[in-house]
Amino acid sequence: MNLLEKLDAAATARKAMLPEGVGAFGIPVEEVYSATEARIGERRVLLLGTNNYLGLTFAPECIQAAHKALDTEGTGTTGSRMANGSYHGHRALEREFADFYDCCAGIVFTTGYQANLGTISGLVGRGDTVLIDGDSHASIFDGCILSGAEIIRFKHNDMIDMEKRLRRLGDRTETTLIIVEGIYSMLGDQAPLADIVALKNKYKCTLLLDEAHSLGVLGETGQGLSEKTGLQKEIDFITGTFSKSLCSIGGFCVSNHPQLDQLRYISHPYIFTASPSPATIASTRAALQLLRNGGNLRKQLWKNCTQLYSKLEETGYKLGPEPGPVIAAVLDNPKQALQIWQRLLENNIYVNLILPPAAPDGKSLVRCSVNAAHTTEQMAYVGDIFAKLYNEILQT
Ligand code: PMP
Repeated sequence: MNLLEKLDAAATARKAMLPEGVGAFGIPVEEVYSATEARIGERRVLLLGTNNYLGLTFAPECIQAAHKALDTEGTGTTGSRMANGSYHGHRALEREFADFYDCCAGIVFTTGYQANLGTISGLVGRGDTVLIDGDSHASIFDGCILSGAEIIRFKHNDMIDMEKRLRRLGDRTETTLIIVEGIYSMLGDQAPLADIVALKNKYKCTLLLDEAHSLGVLGETGQGLSEKTGLQKEIDFITGTFSKSLCSIGGFCVSNHPQLDQLRYISHPYIFTASPSPATIASTRAALQLLRNGGNLRKQLWKNCTQLYSKLEETGYKLGPEPGPVIAAVLDNPKQALQIWQRLLENNIYVNLILPPAAPDGKSLVRCSVNAAHTTEQMAYVGDIFAKLYNEILQT
């Protein structure tokens, strides 16, 4: 098979998963009306397939800040900070992240994906080891590959398996980076951070926590799982993204190790890419302020999460192990998941369809993401439609 024929074979396999004409992936969104509503085809749909956890995509403070930056600093930086220089906004945002996490240093990256690539590949290299959760996001896995370090996976959230692998490493644990996530993006469950920290200390490893889905969601001020568990000082490096609760695009790493700064000089995903646009940085700075003071938004978010999770659980759906803004119904096979996804759309509800191999353990998921801007009535409507579909599709 030549290179193009290989792509044809992959496309055929992909199409075999979906009936002709069903565009479940990369669905065209024609117009966005608000943090909760958009138009898909001719339908006005309720959005439950975004990561807009605090519902801030149309926050006037962020929009105004972005407009101002556009007017005063232009559309883009046109290059990397190492080569072209560091704008005031980028440096200010790094200080604001460091201050938010009460850390001495912070680095801003162009995407959350690159934050993981850049941090991991800057911290470990050939001869070192990364110990990662089996359900890790692709950006973590790709960062590990880029680094050249040996990659060892432990079973998702399984501390016995994790310790078994640490024990086998012997004195290599000192050059081992453990990587876990605050909230896992597929099933919405949280890492057992206290146990992970205990193992990290026992075996003298370094710990990186990706707060991509937990930033804005967990903890009094929204720092994430580190804050919720009071373990901020035990974590060596925290990464995260601007593309979820902060409603823009970019990523960050913060740390209390001053050595973090050295990553700017060695990390290719930081050096060899253009820095985020001034408007992106400005809206992110405004969103970070809203997030820090977003106690009421978090309260509303959790009310919505609990309402929908309880309704789906009581209906009989198999769900991820705990409520949170990611609520995934685990279906028995791709056909069932596709049917539920399609019927939800016919009822003007847009959620994510996750088919193997994208979901862990070959699962088929219908994944909802709940936000603070959803109303109680909207959550009730979604719950009722899910219940109707359960009876119509899963009970027959
Ligand atoms: N880490 C995790 C856990 C993620 O789920 C994602 C994105 N879904 C990223 C990092 C990458 O973030 P971004 O989309 O901002 O590049």
